Amino acid sequence: MKTRMLSPGDAEVAGEILRRGGLVAIPTETVYGLAANALNGEAVANIFKAKGRPMDNPLIVHITELEQLEDQDLVAYVPSAVYDLAEAYWPGPLTIIMEKGSAIPDEVSAGLDTVAIRMPSHPVARSIIKAAGVPLAAPSANTSGLPSPTTAAHVAEDMDGKIDAIVDGGPCSVGVESTVVTLCTETPRILRPGGVTPEMLEEVLGDVDIDQAVLGKLKEGERAASPGMKYKHYSPKAEVYIVRGSLSQFAEFVNAKDPETTCALVFDGEEESIRCKTLPFGAEGDESAQANRLFYDLRTCDDLGIKNIYVRCPSSEGVGLAVMNRLLRAAEYRFIDL
Ligand code: AMP
Ligand code: MG
Repeated sequence: MKTRMLSPGDAEVAGEILRRGGLVAIPTETVYGLAANALNGEAVANIFKAKGRPMDNPLIVHITELEQLEDQDLVAYVPSAVYDLAEAYWPGPLTIIMEKGSAIPDEVSAGLDTVAIRMPSHPVARSIIKAAGVPLAAPSANTSGLPSPTTAAHVAEDMDGKIDAIVDGGPCSVGVESTVVTLCTETPRILRPGGVTPEMLEEVLGDVDIDQAVLGKLKEGERAASPGMKYKHYSPKAEVYIVRGSLSQFAEFVNAKDPETTCALVFDGEEESIRCKTLPFGAEGDESAQANRLFYDLRTCDDLGIKNIYVRCPSSEGVGLAVMNRLLRAAEYRFIDL
C-alpha cells in the first residue's frame, strides 16, 4: 500500500479516507494516533494488524463534543463526574473509562464491558474527527512495543506502506500518552499516568487511587486493570538503564563506556562533562519538558544505531509520574545505583 503524506489543510481528505474504513495517522497533543472509524469493527481490526497489537488491548475513542457520548451511544450512561472532569480537562490529555454503549464494536473494547474516551485538544486532530463525522479509535501510531511517535517522521518509520495516510502536524506538545482514569471502580483509579497529574484529578474528584501497575511490575499471572500495562512497552532497540547518582558519578560512569555505541540522556545543560553522545531530556525538575523529550530521544537513539542508553533518573512528581512509568518499561525496570 502506498502511504500518502498529508498536511493539516487536508482534513477533508483524511476524513474521507476514515469514513470509507481506511487508516490515517493523525497528530494529537499527546503522541501521534493511528485512527480508524470507531464504529466500524473491520476498520478497527486493521489498526491491530498495522501495529501488531495484541487483540486483547483495547483502544481509546476520540470525540470532539460531549454530546457524542449519548447521541452516538458510545457509553451506557454518563457519570456526573465526567461533566466535572470535562469542564476542567477536556479537550486535553485525559482519557476516561466508562461503561460502554451499544455502538462500540468488540474490536474497540477488546471484549470488555467498558470503553475509554478522550477529547483531544490538538486543532488538527479535532478538524479530522469533525471531517470524518464519526468518533475515531486511535492508539499510538507505532509498531506495538516501540516508543510512541511524537513526529510524523517517527510514524513513517513504523507505518510507511501499512496505512493509507499520515497527516504531518509537527511535533506533539505533551510527548507521552494521555492519563487514563477509570470511573468504573468505587474510587476513581488512574490506570496510566499522563499529562493530567494525580493532583489535578484529585482537585476535581477528591480521592483518586493510583493502580499499582503504574510504577510496580505485574507479577506472573496477575491481571492488569488496563490490559496495555501487561505488555513490554516503549522499548527502543537499544538497552535502556535508569542511573541513580550525582552528575559527577554519572559522568565518570558513562565516560568509561564505548562512545560509539553509548548515549547518555541528561538534563539540559549537563552535556559538557560527558564524552559519549548525549541527548538533552529536559531541565532537571521540569517534568513536562522531560515528557516532551523522552520518546523522541529514545527513537533518535535507534536512528543513530546506539546500543546502550543511560538515563539520569528523573523525579516522579507531577507529570514525572508519567515519565517514570514509561521509562521503567523502556528500561525493563533496570536501575544502576552509583
Ligand atoms: P494507546 O491507545 O496505545 O495509548 O493505549 C490505550 C491504553 O488505554 C492501553 O493501555 C489500554 O489498555 C487502555 N485502555 C483502553 N480501553 C480500556 C478499558 N476499557 N479499560 C482499561 N484500560 C483501557
Ligand atoms: Mg500505545
